[in-house]
Amino acid sequence: MAAKGAGEERHGVALTNLDQELFSGAGVSKRELVDYLEAMAPRILPALAGRPLSVVRALRGQKPFMQKNVPTYAPDFVRTVSFWAESSRREVAYALCDDLPTLLWFANQRAIEYHPTLVRAAAMEVPEHLVLDLDPPEDAGFDAVVAAAHLVRRALDDAGLHGVVKTTGAKGVHILVPLAPGPTHEDVAGATRALAVRTERLDPAIATTAFIRADRGGKVFVDPTRAGGSTIASVYSPRVRPGLPVSFPVSWDELDTVVPAEITVATALGRPDPWSDPDALPAPQALPEDLVAEGR
Ligand code: ATP
Ligand code: MN
Ligand code: MN
Repeated sequence: MAAKGAGEERHGVALTNLDQELFSGAGVSKRELVDYLEAMAPRILPALAGRPLSVVRALRGQKPFMQKNVPTYAPDFVRTVSFWAESSRREVAYALCDDLPTLLWFANQRAIEYHPTLVRAAAMEVPEHLVLDLDPPEDAGFDAVVAAAHLVRRALDDAGLHGVVKTTGAKGVHILVPLAPGPTHEDVAGATRALAVRTERLDPAIATTAFIRADRGGKVFVDPTRAGGSTIASVYSPRVRPGLPVSFPVSWDELDTVVPAEITVATALGRPDPWSDPDALPAPQALPEDLVAEGR
């Protein structure tokens, strides 16, 4: 047995150095990442499938980096879709992570975080979710995020909308509202902005929409701009942090007591998952016209 750590093949994918720590301070081996993603595949693949994917890779001795363009040495089974990426100002070949071999190949590449676009490659003009991204200030605990999330819930409720919430695996939460076909990206952007501003108005001591960090005054930032071609870390995606915490769905009741850092590649599979029952999820919804108009 090579001391450097085992290699093996799974689902036709060659896996290497499985016993190496993923990155310095991870406390998690590449094998643990691969095992987690293989076991979580039935849940994470539907969230990734068909959506242009960026990944965060952590190579040993390097700073983690976000990779959009699929390297030319990628095997043929990794499907790609190419289009102009304004953020990179060039044509990018994005991966579509539609199957287990592609997911395992990425894991072997030390791709730890999975960031799909909010739209499908086959229907880039069709928004599927409205997303509210909640970011705590530098020194605040998760309590502040929870308080802001409940405000967002009230703002949604007042607009007749139902959202679901997931931890990000990092510092904040993402709140998603499934959308019925109809609204344009511009409509969703307007509604997102209006909801963020209404949230701030509900309690300006807790929530802010101030873009400049210095103007946030220690409050939770409710991002009014996450829409269109942007990405968010996928549900069930691990994050590049010690112990590999993962983004995980929580019920609104659970939100008050959940400790996001405890939901990791080692524990997530054993947790109750409020999104595993499709009947428990809110149905795709239409956006109220006044909300869309208010944010324009
Ligand atoms: P946290 O809970 O710490 O805020 P997060 O994943 O929500 O974690 P954000 O900084 O709020 O992190 O960003 C929201 C999303 O925007 C990310 O999940 C990611 O998909 C995308 N994003 C953020 N920064 C970049 C970047 N530099 N390049 C590409 N995408 C990014
Ligand atoms: Mn953010
Ligand atoms: Mn965030």
